[in-house]
Amino acid sequence: MNKPTLGIIGGGQLGSLLADAAKKIDIQTVILSDDPDAPGKHFATKFIFGQYDDDTTIKNFINEVDLVTYEFENIPFKILKKINKKKKVLPNPEINKLIQHRETEKNFLNENNITTTKYVTVRNQKDLSENVNLLPGLLKTTTLGYDGKGQYKLNTLDDVTDEIDFTKEYILEKFIHLKKEISVVITRYNQNNYEIYDPIENVHEEQILKYSTIPSDIPDNIRTQSIEWAKQVVEKLDYIGTLCVEFFIDEDDNLYANEIAPRVHNSGHLTMNSHNISQFENHVRAVCGLEKIETKKIFNAKMINLIGDDITPYRNKTFNDNEFFYDYLKTEIKNKRKMGHITIIKK
Ligand code: AMP
Repeated sequence: MNKPTLGIIGGGQLGSLLADAAKKIDIQTVILSDDPDAPGKHFATKFIFGQYDDDTTIKNFINEVDLVTYEFENIPFKILKKINKKKKVLPNPEINKLIQHRETEKNFLNENNITTTKYVTVRNQKDLSENVNLLPGLLKTTTLGYDGKGQYKLNTLDDVTDEIDFTKEYILEKFIHLKKEISVVITRYNQNNYEIYDPIENVHEEQILKYSTIPSDIPDNIRTQSIEWAKQVVEKLDYIGTLCVEFFIDEDDNLYANEIAPRVHNSGHLTMNSHNISQFENHVRAVCGLEKIETKKIFNAKMINLIGDDITPYRNKTFNDNEFFYDYLKTEIKNKRKMGHITIIKK
């Protein structure tokens, strides 16, 4: 079989690491990015700069590729749907549409008997006043929020400030006293045919992922339940590719699904060094219809995200043979920007 050329929308670290994984298995990639300096240009076989809503850009991109995937979920559905008419887009744009919106995403989870935190939709001040039982809570924009962006912690109604823009839609979510956060990364090839990584334990600082570790230190029943729910999510969505479900565990060991990321995920970066097949390679294999290889853990591992200035000392450091440093080659260091990561394996 001739290997397809894979188009990737988005040229950040996820797109770059996907392109890098594809190269290792002789798959050519074309990255499309609206940032002329996106790190993806260092990793893809070909790099196209242009706006996602520009017809000529999209036409050029489509002409270069056999199929398309994407690195982030905030691409307008309309654009993915348009591309899908010419070249297959995986995961299916309909899935992206469902998950882009916190309300439809949480409704989907609950309809499938997957527990989430309690939540209501909020369109105005009145909706908040009528749901004080959910305080303390987090008010989150229904779309375009990530790494804590668009989120407000409300202990009482007095915390509602003018900063909250009620022309946007929100959900109010009950605040959970977190004991731990975990994620399950799963790659589905087709029906009941997947590779699953063991739950990864995550630590956030200022709502940004800082550390990921395997194995996670969790009870067996939580391990089993989180894996079961992740399988249920991919089956129900008829998903192709790598997906991540993020979970909360509260102080009484209750498990809640927080979010679904319909893509490779930052917490899965350690799989590049801990497993024989990484989350990126599994994604490329699944969407390109290549053979599934049994995925096995080789080492325990810990990943540390290098955020903002954290990266500077690492750029000149000498590393031990159990340390793997990844520099996303972003042109500018910015506060709270993920600049790179380091994974330490335990041999
Ligand atoms: P999210 O954007 O929903 O993934 O939230 C980012 C981070 O904020 C999570 O990983 C948690 O650390 C924290 N967080 C979000 N929602 C809640 C909640 N309902 N209760 C407690 N912490 C939360």
